Amino acid sequence: MEAPVDLARLKARDDAEWRRVEASYAPRLYAYVARRVKDREAREDIVQESFLVAVRNIERVDPALGFEAYLFNILGSRVIDWLRRKRPVQLTGLGLEESAAHFDFVAAPRETPSQVARQAELEEGARILLGAAARAWCRECFEAQAFERVAVFEAVVVRGIRNKDAARRFGHADDGAVAGVKFRGLKRIAELVHELDASGAVKQAVLAHLSHEDRPVDLDFAQAWSEARAACPPREWLSACARKEDGAEQVHVRHHAPDCASCSAELDHLRADPAGSEAASLLEALRRRRAAEHDEQA
Ligand SMILES: [Zn+2]
Repeated sequence: MEAPVDLARLKARDDAEWRRVEASYAPRLYAYVARRVKDREAREDIVQESFLVAVRNIERVDPALGFEAYLFNILGSRVIDWLRRKRPVQLTGLGLEESAAHFDFVAAPRETPSQVARQAELEEGARILLGAAARAWCRECFEAQAFERVAVFEAVVVRGIRNKDAARRFGHADDGAVAGVKFRGLKRIAELVHELDASGAVKQAVLAHLSHEDRPVDLDFAQAWSEARAACPPREWLSACARKEDGAEQVHVRHHAPDCASCSAELDHLRADPAGSEAASLLEALRRRRAAEHDEQA
């Protein structure tokens, strides 16, 4: 049994303690990265960078969550950063092509500051709208008890896992089913973008992006998805997971939470405080019931 992490010594930038921590965590960090990043060299860089960031920001460790959650949060966001750099455009339209999108950076003509500001505003609006549509789609799937659909979509479109690897992970004989989930999900999200109320320009930009006709905005699907917490389950599902209860929705929690920094931190917190978790879940159930009653009356 290895000694627990000595946070005080880490905060004092004690070399010996950092070396010990690095040696004891490195294998698990590599394993985490290896599941997501194919490039071996990149894996080393990501793990090294994560330790550097961890050393630099060690004062920010939340004692309630602990060092491990802190370290894995950093690692998770480094992995996402890397995947983004690798594939700045996650969506290659509605086609089913497997190849990663190639993106050539061409020196853009100089723009005036107001043009730059307008473009930034458009891009932010597009990201928020896409995130909201993605969230609405996840809620539709949850309502239909189609938990695995969200897990498959998130694996392929958001985390960039290949169709055939996803098929294996979810126990499908071939990747046709996975491609279908991706295709129908993107199509429905495009419809939801259309349905959601938004200014014409933003909606046009997102739809053009999704249909691959044009790239009026630089839109990162994974970023929109995670900022909107599109697939993040309701807290009561996480509480149930922390209490090791089983339910159909746990399929989604199991696939989503380990890769989601917010949900995995929340889960760690719930596991550390089961009583608080139970109370929170009861409160949420109550809130939902009230909302449902309110809807009926309306
Ligand atoms: Zn989440």
